[in-house]
Amino acid sequence: MEETAAKVATHIGCPICRLEVDADEAFCNHCGFPLKGTEQQQRVFWLKRDTKKKRLAEADKKIRQASNTLFVVGGITFFFSLGIYLWGYYGSYNGDVSLFLSGAILGLIFVALGFWCKVKPLPAILCGLSLYLLWQVINLVVSPSTFLNAYVYKLFVIGFLIVGLRAVFEGEKVKKELNA
Ligand SMILES: [Zn+2]
Repeated sequence: MEETAAKVATHIGCPICRLEVDADEAFCNHCGFPLKGTEQQQRVFWLKRDTKKKRLAEADKKIRQASNTLFVVGGITFFFSLGIYLWGYYGSYNGDVSLFLSGAILGLIFVALGFWCKVKPLPAILCGLSLYLLWQVINLVVSPSTFLNAYVYKLFVIGFLIVGLRAVFEGEKVKKELNA
């Protein structure tokens, strides 16, 4: 009991991160706040931390965009293959079931990656990007005449995923700095 009381007496809560720090320390050993610094130094620290928080929010936004991109790719792929199948089914030729199934499964995989991205963005975006690029390479080999179809859409997909991937690393870096 006495030991705890003595400990509490020499520990204060950091005004920035609210974690317990030794009252004698010049800097918070959790977030680096200059506990004994001048008002100017403390203000500079606060501003830098605020900038980092904005960078983190920006990174989170880009990761959400990547997640939405995976949903859009999944949705378009699924409904496009369904549409082609129904068009064939009710049209003049028989709908190709295997083509529909492969498109539908591919679409559902992208939707699943979109959900996974909300929990584990790094592996989810990496898988999504690799799968998408592989798909385009296969498309180029199998049907080169359709490779450039909807190329703006394809470039946007790849672009958003790469931006999201970079944001994951940026976010990790800033998080480390904030807890340094
Ligand atoms: Zn702190």
